[in-house]
Amino acid sequence: MEELLEELLEECRPYTQQGNVATYIPELAKGDPNDLGIYVLRSDGRHYQAGDYKKCFTIQSVVKPILLLLALLDNGEEYVRARVGVEATGKPFDAINVTDQTLLSEHLNPMVNMGAIAMCTLIKGSDYNERFQRLLELTRTLAGNPNIGINEDVFLSEKRTGNKNRALAFLLKNYNIIQDDVEDVLDCYFKACSISVNSKDLANIGFTLASRGKHPQTDERLYPSQYAHYVNAILTTCGMYDGSGEFAVNVGVPAKSGVGGGIMAVVPTRMGIGIFSPGLDAKGNSLAGIQVLQRLAKRMYLSIF
Ligand code: GLU
Repeated sequence: MEELLEELLEECRPYTQQGNVATYIPELAKGDPNDLGIYVLRSDGRHYQAGDYKKCFTIQSVVKPILLLLALLDNGEEYVRARVGVEATGKPFDAINVTDQTLLSEHLNPMVNMGAIAMCTLIKGSDYNERFQRLLELTRTLAGNPNIGINEDVFLSEKRTGNKNRALAFLLKNYNIIQDDVEDVLDCYFKACSISVNSKDLANIGFTLASRGKHPQTDERLYPSQYAHYVNAILTTCGMYDGSGEFAVNVGVPAKSGVGGGIMAVVPTRMGIGIFSPGLDAKGNSLAGIQVLQRLAKRMYLSIF
């Protein structure tokens, strides 16, 4: 298996040069386009890795499924679903999903920015600092890595330049979907996106979704299996933004991408996969990362369809 991973990385290395590192968050422009790494954790406990799997990057949108899990744990499914819908938007991650109609909670999806910003308000805590700390704790638990923290430079860079997200948050407030102070909510969202992880962390987190809520090492139940079903379904329909349909056909597993270059893939009952390569395609998904996953899915019959 390790040989297969090495082989796939070599085969896909040329694709690292075809993507573009995100620059709209200035700090992300420092990413090295040559990086490519993968970590696979299987249900029998064995793990396989290749390339730059130890290299840290910011989690960006791969935090959205974790945010959703915490919102579900804090409030239950009915409450969350009434506030952030589940229909795929078919739109880019930062789309302003509103026309002249009233914006309703069913127009939101937890895997795109507007829905994720709304979800920050569903996390329990006396203030947004505590809410973020609880999200960080859950991330550490799911990854089995107590050392996970945030990349302060990326956080400050996005806080300084994230005016599109500011616009999205003000729209949510205008339509009374969120009530709290926009800057407090955004600080929580930007910090969430700035959590620093590596491919192994993403594979471990993905594994908990593959095993319907069980801890990768201890078999301990971390969250109810119905929440894994809920999150995996949304990952399948909207985890790769407006590239989700193509990804479902070409790869066929629940997955979430982030503009830091990470992809977390979930192969139900079989494995969690973490991939990192910062060159992105036009939709904001890791270009070489998708190529690797496509080949791995074919070689190992991973598609759930
Ligand atoms: N922090 C990023 C943003 O809000 C996350 C986007 C992404 O990873 O797709 O723009």
